[in-house]
Amino acid sequence: MSLGNRFDQTAVGHQFGVVRVGPDKAFSRGLVRLRTTDAKDEPHVSFNLLSDERDLARMIYGIRFACKVLSADAIQKASFSIFAGAYTDWTRRLGIKTWYNKILTEVGAFALDLGVLPRNAIMRVVTSSGYGIDELLRDDHAAEAFARETALGNWHACGTVRMGAKGDRDACVDSAGRVLGIKNLRVADASIMPAIPCANIHLTTIMAAEKLSDCI
Ligand SMILES: Cc1cc2nc3c(=O)[nH]c(=O)nc-3n(C[C@H](O)[C@H](O)[C@H](O)COP(=O)(O)OP(=O)(O)OC[C@H]3O[C@@H](n4cnc5c(N)ncnc54)[C@H](O)[C@@H]3O)c2cc1C
Repeated sequence: MSLGNRFDQTAVGHQFGVVRVGPDKAFSRGLVRLRTTDAKDEPHVSFNLLSDERDLARMIYGIRFACKVLSADAIQKASFSIFAGAYTDWTRRLGIKTWYNKILTEVGAFALDLGVLPRNAIMRVVTSSGYGIDELLRDDHAAEAFARETALGNWHACGTVRMGAKGDRDACVDSAGRVLGIKNLRVADASIMPAIPCANIHLTTIMAAEKLSDCI
C-alpha cells in the first residue's frame, strides 16, 4: 500500500489524497516481442496485469483492506469524501499541461470546496470508478471487476532480458551482463533483473549498473 497526499500536479489533484494497493512482487508475467525486423519499430509490450489468479486474490485483499481502513471513524472524521477512484480518460486528459486544463482544474479545485453536492458531481465525472466502498467490501463480483478495470502498472517494468546461470533456459545475459550468444554486447538496466524486487526498483537498477560498470 502506498499513500500520497496529492493525486497529481493539477490544482484538482492537489485536493485529493490517494491510497494505492497492489502486489509489488507480481506472479503475472508480461511479454515484449518484436513487431518487425526493423530496429526502429516499437516492440509489442504487454504487461498481462492480473493474469495470475494469485495477483487478483492479493489485489482484492488489498482493495478491501484499504476500504476498511478508509471506513474507520478516525479517517472519516479527517476527510470530506472517500471514494473508489480510477485513472479515467478524464484524469489522463486533464493531466496534460495546457492553458485550458490549467483554468479548468483551477475552477474544479474551487468547486470542490463548495460543498458535498458539487464535490460528488466532480468526482463522479472526473475520477470515480463508479463502484461504492460498501459494494467493494460486500460484493465479490464488484471487487473483481473494480480490480480488473482499474489496475495499472506501477512504472517498475523489469526482467525482460533476465540474468541467469549457464543452462538456465530463460537467461539472456550472464552475471557480467553479457548477452548470451552475441559478442561485445552487454545490458545494464532494469531489464536484467531475474526476479521482481519486492519494492520500487530504482535503487536495485543503480546497484546493478554499478556492479556491471565494474565488470566492464
Ligand atoms: C513515472 C515513474 C516514476 C517512478 N518512480 C520511482 C520511484 O519513486 N522509486 C523507484 O525506485 N523507482 C521509480 N520508478 C522506476 C525507475 O525510475 C526505473 O525502474 C528505472 O529508471 C529504470 O532504469 P533503466 O536504466 O532500466 O531505464 P531508464 O531509466 O528508462 O533509462 C533508459 C534510458 O535509455 C534511453 N534510451 C531509450 N531509447 C534509446 C535509444 N534508442 N538510444 C539511446 N538511448 C535510448 C532513455 O532516454 C533513457 O535515458 C519510476 C518510474 C517511472 C516511469
